[in-house]
Amino acid sequence: MSHKVYNFSAGPANLPSTVLKKVQSELLDWSDSGMSVMEVSHRSKDFVALAVNSESMLRELLNVPSNYKILFLQGGATGQFSAIPLNISTPTDTADYIITGNWGKKASEEARSYLNVNVVANESTSNYTTLPDLNKVSFSSDAAYVHYTPNETVYGVEFSKPLAKSSVPMVADMSSTILSRPIDIGSYDLIYAGAQKNIGPAGLTIVVINENLLGKARSITPSVLNYTLMSESESMYNTPPTLSWYIATLVFRWLLDTGGLEERHKINLAKANLLYQCIDSSKIFKAPVVESARSLMNIVFTAQDNELEKTFLEEASKANLKNLKGHRMIGGMRASIYNAMPIEGVETLVDFIDNFDRRYT
Ligand code: PMP
Repeated sequence: MSHKVYNFSAGPANLPSTVLKKVQSELLDWSDSGMSVMEVSHRSKDFVALAVNSESMLRELLNVPSNYKILFLQGGATGQFSAIPLNISTPTDTADYIITGNWGKKASEEARSYLNVNVVANESTSNYTTLPDLNKVSFSSDAAYVHYTPNETVYGVEFSKPLAKSSVPMVADMSSTILSRPIDIGSYDLIYAGAQKNIGPAGLTIVVINENLLGKARSITPSVLNYTLMSESESMYNTPPTLSWYIATLVFRWLLDTGGLEERHKINLAKANLLYQCIDSSKIFKAPVVESARSLMNIVFTAQDNELEKTFLEEASKANLKNLKGHRMIGGMRASIYNAMPIEGVETLVDFIDNFDRRYT
């Protein structure tokens, strides 16, 4: 299909077309096996080689220090909401949660089953259009960890740099920002991300963890959520999501071949700036998030009224600009422009918005 649909879904999201073509070309015969990658054993020589290669490419992309382990898990980011307290805290511990959107809120609610949760900042009062002033936040002195969500996918709010590191382990849900820009892994002790935005298809979940947090899992921790067990078995304690892992590996290759994360960041900044400028100069649309907190990946905007939003979404879909509807919790519009969204897709959307603006004012 050469004619273009631009998919602005927040996840599962679009994948690079070069990756999809590669998948297609080797779907029936992977690595000269005469079989699809979906059909080979995860313990076969070729798949183990893929897993090793995958880890080393991700290590290179994220510049992961040697004292951090990379785990390839399942259960999505939501699985980690439980895995984190189970692996790195005791039931009497307290963890500090910074809530800048619904995913941080969900993570904190789930963690309450496992330890004491101290919500140290909550931006719900601004409808999650702002980030907290961290100088005014009082953290627990003895927290087991601090948890935050660098990019909140639903509201489109992003911290542009890591929070200052203290002696308390820093944990970050990077589901919708990982691989969009270089990150300093040393500023975190544990990061995690579901794959279905910037990594690959749903099914795979990545955890990057400082080795000094291993070996602390509670005895009741399910094996598949046990970081120590998973680390000791090279993420193959049980059957991993092989297809998703394979496609993620092709995405890592694509990112390396196209200049790595420095280059990706430049492209992502250009895409986001283009779209925010267009929305800011529109008479109909506005972006509710304060400028300093705007996400590079999830661009949320609203129109003057619901009817106009409905018309916009219908017309956009007919013009092959798909999945621009905002999250069901907040409505409005959201353009998710992850790595695989080419600049041409954003330019097409910008032209469409400009044109809509002219026609309806
Ligand atoms: N955290 C963030 C920031 C997300 O965007 C999402 C999914 N949209 C989740 C967590 C939940 O991820 P999963 O569906 O992989 O459990």
